[in-house]
Amino acid sequence: MGETRHTRVLIIGSGPAGYTAAVYSARAMLNPLLVQGLQPGGQLTITTEVENWPGDTHVMGPDLMVRMQAHAEAMGAEVISDYITALDLSTRPFTPWPTVAPPIRRMR
Ligand SMILES: Cc1cc2nc3c(=O)[nH]c(=O)nc-3n(C[C@H](O)[C@H](O)[C@H](O)COP(=O)(O)OP(=O)(O)OC[C@H]3O[C@@H](n4cnc5c(N)ncnc54)[C@H](O)[C@@H]3O)c2cc1C
Repeated sequence: MGETRHTRVLIIGSGPAGYTAAVYSARAMLNPLLVQGLQPGGQLTITTEVENWPGDTHVMGPDLMVRMQAHAEAMGAEVISDYITALDLSTRPFTPWPTVAPPIRRMR
C-alpha cells in the first residue's frame, strides 16, 4: 500500500450530483478528488434519452455523463476509478478507505 493521499475535498460518486460538486469545488480552487464508484456516470448511464436537461431538448444519458465528467476535469477536478469501502468520520481529518488507491485523508 502506498502513502496516504490528502485532499481538501473528496467527492464520492460520479452521478450528476458528484460531477456538479466537482465543477463547483474545482472552480473554487479546492482541487477536488472524485471517486467514481462501481457505476461511473451514475444512473443516467443506463437510460437512453433524457428530455428534461435544460438546454437540450433531448440528450442521451450516457453522452450527458461523459460531458459532465469532461466538464469536471476541464475545471481541474481529478477523477479516479475506485470504490470507497469504509469512511471514518469520527476523527478529523476524515479517512475514507478505497479499494485500490492508498487511503485518502481530508486536509484540515
Ligand atoms: C433508467 C433511468 C432513467 C432515468 N431517466 C431520467 C430522466 O430522464 N431525467 C431525470 O431527471 N432523471 C432520470 N433518472 C434519475 C436520475 O438518473 C437520478 O436522479 C440521478 O442519476 C441521481 O444522481 P446522483 O448523482 O444523485 O446519483 P447516481 O446517478 O445514482 O450516482 C451515484 C454515484 O455514486 C457512486 N457510488 C455509490 N457508492 C459508492 C461508493 N461506496 N464509493 C464510490 N462511489 C460510490 C456510484 O458509482 C455512482 O457514480 C433516471 C434514472 C434511471 C435509473
